Amino acid sequence: MFDRAEFVRGAHQPDQFPRHTFPEVAFSGRSNVGKSSLINMLLGRKKLARISKKPGRTKSINFYRIDDRFCLVDLPGYGYAGVPAEEQEKWAYLIEDYLHHRKNLKGIIQIVDARHEPSEDDYLMMDWLASAELNFLIAATKCDKLKKSRLKPQRKMIADRMGISLEKVLLTSARKRQGKKRLETFIKEVTGI
Ligand code: GDP
Repeated sequence: MFDRAEFVRGAHQPDQFPRHTFPEVAFSGRSNVGKSSLINMLLGRKKLARISKKPGRTKSINFYRIDDRFCLVDLPGYGYAGVPAEEQEKWAYLIEDYLHHRKNLKGIIQIVDARHEPSEDDYLMMDWLASAELNFLIAATKCDKLKKSRLKPQRKMIADRMGISLEKVLLTSARKRQGKKRLETFIKEVTGI
């Protein structure tokens, strides 16, 4: 459904956010959760977001213009144990500023691992999303790694732990290309494209 993706810029600080009128949808999640793979699945390409070998390296917010209709925003992955506290603080400042002040931002796709309980940083992100009153969808990814019988209980566990309704949690898999339609619908709904 989405076709042309153009890199706009990477921002390391708020004054580098692009000045444009496109609505934005941001993707967030801890390092290595499968964020790049999910973005690539959505855009039907092998390589837009670089799939990193070293977790936690991308610390800029990356903006991509999609079909001249909306902007996909790749937020830097968080929670990698090897990252020094100073880096983590920079990350928190940048993301919080973006989430709370960015007028273009219309919705967030927050990615978690379908196999695990949400991390402390996942909860922190949820708090920010709630306080910024943003539209969001939780994509519980890598669900191909779960036995079929575990899918429903894991989805419910994630919704319960995060204190949100079940409909807000979508089971996805980049490997099985699962969840693409629902992600597209969410983007269309929140951006109005
Ligand atoms: P990022 O750091 O969040 O952008 O994560 P990546 O997209 O780079 O993925 C991290 C690792 O998880 C890579 O080895 C991927 O091949 C693997 N991965 C990502 N998505 C899936 C998925 O849906 N299923 C499975 N089984 N593995 C996945």
